[in-house]
Formats: sequence, structure tokens, C-alpha cells
Amino acid sequence: MPARRFSPLLMATLLASGLACAQGSAVDNPLFTVSPLPLQYPPFDKVRDEHFAPALDKGMAEQLTEVQAIADNPAAPTFDNTIVALERSGRLLRRTTTLLYSLLGADANPARQQVQTDYAAKLAAQRDAVLLNPKLFARIEALYAQRDTAAPSAEGRRLIEFYRRDMVRAGARLNDEQKARMRAINAELATLGARFNRAVLAEVNDSAIVVDSAQELAGLSPAQIAAAADTARKRGLDGKYVIALLNTTIQPFETELQDRALRERLHRASVARGARGNEFDTRATISRIMTLRAERAALLGYATPADFVLEEETAKSADAVNALLRQLAPAAVASARQEAAELQKLIDADQAAKKQPSFALQAWDWSHYADKLRAAKYGFDESQLKPYLELTSVLEKGVFFAAHQLYGISFKRRTDLPVYRDDVRTYDVFDTDGKQLAIFIADLYARPSKRGGAWMNAYVSQNPLEGTQPVVANHLNIPKPPAGEPTLLTWDEVTTLFHEFGHALHGMFNKVPYPGLSRVPRDFVEYPSQVNEVWADTPAVLASYARHYKTGEPMPRELLDKVSRAKRFNQGYATLSYLSSAILDQRLHQLGAGKIPSADALMHFEARVLKEEGVDFAPVPPRYRTPYFNHIMGGYSAGYYAYIWSEVLDADTVEWLHANGGLKRANGDQLRARLLSRGGAEDAMVLFRNLVGHGPDIKPLLERRGLGIQKP
Ligand SMILES: [Zn+2]
Repeated sequence: MPARRFSPLLMATLLASGLACAQGSAVDNPLFTVSPLPLQYPPFDKVRDEHFAPALDKGMAEQLTEVQAIADNPAAPTFDNTIVALERSGRLLRRTTTLLYSLLGADANPARQQVQTDYAAKLAAQRDAVLLNPKLFARIEALYAQRDTAAPSAEGRRLIEFYRRDMVRAGARLNDEQKARMRAINAELATLGARFNRAVLAEVNDSAIVVDSAQELAGLSPAQIAAAADTARKRGLDGKYVIALLNTTIQPFETELQDRALRERLHRASVARGARGNEFDTRATISRIMTLRAERAALLGYATPADFVLEEETAKSADAVNALLRQLAPAAVASARQEAAELQKLIDADQAAKKQPSFALQAWDWSHYADKLRAAKYGFDESQLKPYLELTSVLEKGVFFAAHQLYGISFKRRTDLPVYRDDVRTYDVFDTDGKQLAIFIADLYARPSKRGGAWMNAYVSQNPLEGTQPVVANHLNIPKPPAGEPTLLTWDEVTTLFHEFGHALHGMFNKVPYPGLSRVPRDFVEYPSQVNEVWADTPAVLASYARHYKTGEPMPRELLDKVSRAKRFNQGYATLSYLSSAILDQRLHQLGAGKIPSADALMHFEARVLKEEGVDFAPVPPRYRTPYFNHIMGGYSAGYYAYIWSEVLDADTVEWLHANGGLKRANGDQLRARLLSRGGAEDAMVLFRNLVGHGPDIKPLLERRGLGIQKP
């Protein structure tokens, strides 16, 4: 998942955060000035948490002054004195919120969370003060009316349309009473959003499993057991073992743990999160957020929050999203049930061999037995792959290697730039002509202060008006091995690394004339990143990075073949767990005002929806359950479907790549010129057509996932 790219005008409030009045004097606050480091790389060593509040205060005041001056300009509105002036405004605020929100995701602490809480409503009010400014709207309306002549180019015209749309969607056409209500809703939503994020992070840490003896951990490697002992020590539980949770429903250790009771404990702790009635319970917050979103949609003339959101996406309507999800769901359920039957057979045989009674497959058994089944069917399991998937090799000789082959760009590690944690790495990225293109930050390890999942964000974006080049970061949650041990990845983590780097490439290659044109629809933004996953198991790339961490031997050909033969293995499960979450997101956001379930009814609603949509298959729970579904309370509201929507385009594009010779410069040049450098400068579906030469076709996706088309 990436940080969605917003126009700079909106950046301040869409990201979120805050701090109380701190003492930091204006003179020594490093946020007040542009960073002197290369490419304006953030001065992580100089910025202290108490610098954020004064920089936010000053940044908000500056932006309001700038915007008011634009609105009050006695000269008739022109593209330059209005649109370009807006594009240039709010620099300090943008710089500050970008850094604050990035750090809140990667390395939250109580001081930063306090800033976020204190400023959430203020930043929402700031956004409204700009977007609901009637004089500014009048200028934008005037430019919009004559956009064909007022804009210097087709791209400029598009930018005028963006500004007008943003203001209309913020409520610029409402009457004063409605605008006041809108401001109140936005302020409350901002505060609730900050509260939700904080609770999810606290709850995932609070739900960690404490284990008394190493015997119960049978199945884990000595390094994993040592790491669990280490985590326990850090929590003051010497002599015990702690299994930290990730934010997904399924926990990675469920694969390896042999102790069925412990697997069940882990799983139950995972799915109970956010609905335990403790201080981190999110149900009331979710219910209130949804109620306010529904009210806001109604104020703006939309039946539901989904209608409001989807209008801006390539999907355009809830019906289109429902149609895709409902086309895929029956096929995914059928596949998952078939997979479950196979797993049940394996369990029966396994138990019989041990002369023990069999049991019915449950959610906490799935990944454990799936791994065994894969070993039986394809002759390998994760543990055989891992020694060939060492992190630095995968990154530098895999991800970077593929990018070099395709785009001709190169990478050089640098160690002189400050980082916020010792295990964060930085690289210079050089373009084909040898000139610096960007700086890439790799923050790949899990830590309790980091939110779950994987994402990309830009600390600095390409912006010709300010002459800036990208500083982009990838964030993963790879468990850190004990000191001195190598970091060996799962196949899933390898794919995620390629995926997130696809977002990074999109950010680094961005080349648009105005920063406001960097925005990409959410259901399109996953497309380039998913395409980049294809290189993970491309033979030439694998040959480069998949080497034994001790011997340097390449991964044996037979193992490679087995990996690619097993590609469709477990796809029913993967598809169904994803689709159930995507459906939950849609159904929740397709409720109008007055229809939102109360806190107490939220889990009943979830159960009912899964049943009604025919995706309630207990061994395959949703990838995220509502109380810890970060995506949909944040930037992916009514947007979790975006991954599969984008995958239609991705699978189609991968076909195009294969048909044109795969990993080679000519293809990379096309991708860069027609897609990766274009941001939102043109309609997303036009970019897609320009690249592959036709409209989207769902067949390659169904083929890839081994799903037959089922007529509804
Ligand atoms: Zn992504």
C-alpha cells in the first residue's frame, strides 16, 4: 500500500497529526527552513518532537495568509495568479505534516501521537478554511468556466478541474449553515481517525502472546525462539517467550507452530482485537466515524459514503465494484473449499499416522497444514527457500537489479545521512545519464512503534515549481533476527519488497509540470506496484539474488521450478480472505445515514454481511476484521477493493510484458514514459490503454489465480 498522493493543498489535512505548545524557539527549529541535506532529505537527527507543534502553527498561519492573498487579489483570476500560486502555497505546513505523518507510521511515540491528537481537528479546520473559502471558490469557478482558454496546456486545464472538484467535494457550494456542520464533522472525524490509529497500534502490542516454555514453540527455528525470548526480556518477562502480533488476522507463526493449542490461542487473540471491551476497543469509534461519513455524504448529495468516494476512482460507481467482487467471490469460495478438503485429508492422514483422533480443519490450522501440503505436493516448504532469500541480496541484487535491467537506473548505498533508527538504510538512485534521480530509504524491519503492513511514502516529492526531486521510502514489517543472524525472508516478504518498490519507482519517475498532477486514483495506484511483483520470480532476476546466505550457491533449478509450479497453490484461500475484507469495506460504506450499526451491533453486521455475500467460510476468515481494519478507517475507505481492481490491469500488463520479451530496457522505457512518469497528468485508464494498446480484460487475472469464471 502506498501513501496516496494528494495535491499539496490537501496534504495538510489528509495526513493527520499534532502537538501541544512547545518551547522550541523559532531560531533553532530545523523545520522552519528547507533541509540543507541532499535533495532536501529530512534532517532526522535535528528534528525533535517538540519542533512539530510550532512548525505546524507557523505553517498553518503562513498557508492561510498565502491563500487569503490569492483570494483577495484585486486582479482578475488567471492560471498563474490563482492555480500556480496555490500550488506554491503551504510549503512549511506540507514539509512538517509530511515528516510528522511519515514518522507516526514508521516510528510512533507518545510525543508524536500527542501532536497528532492535538492537531487532528486543527488541521481538518485548516483544510476547510482553504477549501470552503468563498472568494477563492469564485476565482476557481471563473477559471473553470473558461478553462479551455485560461489554462496554458491540457495538463493545466486538468489541474483547474482538480481544484474545482476538490472544493465542490469539500462543500464549497453549500450554504453557511451546512458549511458549519461540515466543519464540525471534519474536525470530529480527524480526532476519531487519530484515536482509531492509536488504539489499533496499542491493541496489537497488548495482544502479544506470552508463552511459558520453549517446548510449546516447537516448529520455530532457534533464531525465532531466541527472538521471542528477547521480546519477552524487553517487556520485563525474563525467562518467558513473547510472540508479537502483526496487524493481519492470520499470524505468520501459525504456519510453523506445531502446538495446535498455541496456534488456536494465537489466532483467537488476533481476531479478538479491537472488540474486547478494553480501552483499545475500536467499535464505538468505527460506528461514530461511519455515522459522520454517511452524514457528510448526504450533505454533499450522495446516498452513501461509497458513492462519494468511488466517483473519483476509475471504478466510478458502487455497482461496478460490487459486480467485480461478486463475480470473483463464488469462484474464490469454490477454490477455498476444494483446498480445505485437501487439507482435511492431510490432517486425517497425519493424525492416523500418529494414532490420534482426527479433528476438523479450523482457521488456525490452515497455514500450518497448507505448508505441509505444499511440501507433499510440490516437494518444498518455506524453510527450504529461506536460506536463499537473504534480505540485502533480495533488495540489492533482486529489486535493484530488476530496476537496473528495465530502466537503466543504478543504486549506491550511502551511510552519511541521518536516520531515525539504526536499521534504516539509504541509497542514492542515479538516472540513466548518471545524474542523481532520487534518494531511496529502506525501512524494512518490524518494531512495536510501526504500524502494520507495508507501504511507501514520499518525504520529498518531485515538484518543478520548487525544483525538488523525490526522497521516497519503503516500509515493511520483517521480523528482526537476533543480533548476528541473517535476515531470511519468506516468499511473501520477497514479493512485498518488489511490490513496494513498484510504488517507489512510481514516485521516483514522477515527472509532472505541477505537483497537483501527481495524484493517482486509489484503485489505479496499486497497479504499477503489482506489475513490479512479476520480477520476483523471473529467472534472470532470481539467478541474481536467490543465493544461499552461507555458501553463495544459487537456488537449485529444481527448487525454482517447484516454486513456480506452486504459484497457484492456496490461491482460493488468499483470494477469499482478501475478498471478504473488501466486501466488508464496501458494505459498510454503502450504508446511508441512519443505517450505520451501533458499536454493539458492529460484529453482528460483519457476520451477517459475510453470510449474505456467501463468503462466510470459517476456516478462511477475512484478512482484516472490522475493528482493526486500518485501511478503511484511513485512506482506503470504500477502497480496499483497489488491490483486485488494479490486479486486473496488472495481470493484463504482465501479459503485454511477456509478449514483448519481459525484462528489457525497451519495455522499461515504455513503462516509464507512458505510465510511471505521468502521475495523474492524464486520465488513468487512458494511460493504461496507451501502454498495453487495449482496454482492461479480466481473463489474465482469473487465469493467474486459477479461478474459473462463474456466472452470477
Ligand atoms: Zn501497494
